[in-house]
Order: sequence, then structure tokens, then C-alpha cells
Amino acid sequence: MKSYCPICFRDITHHQNLFDWLKKDAWICGDCRLIFKDVNQVFHFHGCLIEVLYEQSEELDSLIMQYQEVGDIALRSLFFHDYVSYMQKHYKGYTLVWMPSGKVKERGLETVKEMLDEFSMKKQELLECISDDPLYMRLRNDCGLKKQKVLLVDVYFHKAKLQMAFDLLKPHVQCIHVVVLCGDMKVLHTMRLD
Ligand SMILES: [Zn+2]
Repeated sequence: MKSYCPICFRDITHHQNLFDWLKKDAWICGDCRLIFKDVNQVFHFHGCLIEVLYEQSEELDSLIMQYQEVGDIALRSLFFHDYVSYMQKHYKGYTLVWMPSGKVKERGLETVKEMLDEFSMKKQELLECISDDPLYMRLRNDCGLKKQKVLLVDVYFHKAKLQMAFDLLKPHVQCIHVVVLCGDMKVLHTMRLD
């Protein structure tokens, strides 16, 4: 168990709830845990199921910005941390594919790929951006698609980007499920399935 919170650097026990403290596997302090408001709902979009883990908020936005734009790489494993076991079990047999970024040169890394560092699932780089605009993406030439089941992961729910990725992947894969870290609940509830 870490002794300090990687987000605010206070003691990990700060405002920690009893349950997390007793489990002894708290990874952020109690105050920072409040940034991650679970949604864990499934939505429907163009024939694919989209699972949204957290509610988008100003606090979560700034944490994502600190990682993606400021380059605080130490935060990379933190975003999906609570869902690693669940996703590995629930999406057993799926290939993990990350949404590519148009800012790889600028940032020096595929930020979504790095966020999935803790996952032991099979991962494959199927998509790549061909300009700064993330909507200009293509299938990688060397991706060797084999009708596999794909779990596509992104940080935000972005309709146009998902549509583009679906159009490229659908003819070549068995099925696509999507997990996004966070979404605007007002937008998503117009598409809610269950
Ligand atoms: Zn904290």
C-alpha cells in the first residue's frame, strides 16, 4: 500500500473511508477518490455497446489534462485502476485496442495506450492517426486483423471519433465493445439502454 496519494501527495489515509482502509489497498486518498464518480452504465451507439465508467466532471477533466497535456506520466495507471480486474474478467478473450491520438508527436506517447499499462489482456495497435486531427485515422497496415473480438478504449465519449473507428474496424472484426473512462451524462442519457 502506498503511503501517500499520487494525486495530492497527502497521506493516503487522508479522509479514507473505512472500507478502503480495511482492505489496505487504497491507491488514492479519500478526498481524491471523490473525483471518480462511478457510472458504470451501458449505452448503445451504432450497434455497439459502450460502457462508461465515470461521470465527466471538472475535477476529472483537470486530472486528465494534467496527465495528457502537462505530461504527468506518473498518473497513467490511475484512471482505470479500479476496473482492471473487472474488465479482464468481463472481457476475457477480447483484444484491447486503444483509440489513437493525433498528438503522439507532441506528447511523445500514445496516452490512452499508456493508461492501459496494468492490463494483462492481449493488446494490439490497430488504429493510427494520420494527422493532428484525431478524426483522420486509418487501420495500420501491419495490424493482421483476424475476426477477433475487440475492446476499444478511449478517455471521453466522442461520437465522431467512435463512428470513424467503427467504420474502419467493423468489416474486419467479430465484434466491438467500447469502454470509455468518462462521459457527459446529459448526452449519454439520450442513448441509455439499461
Ligand atoms: Zn489525494
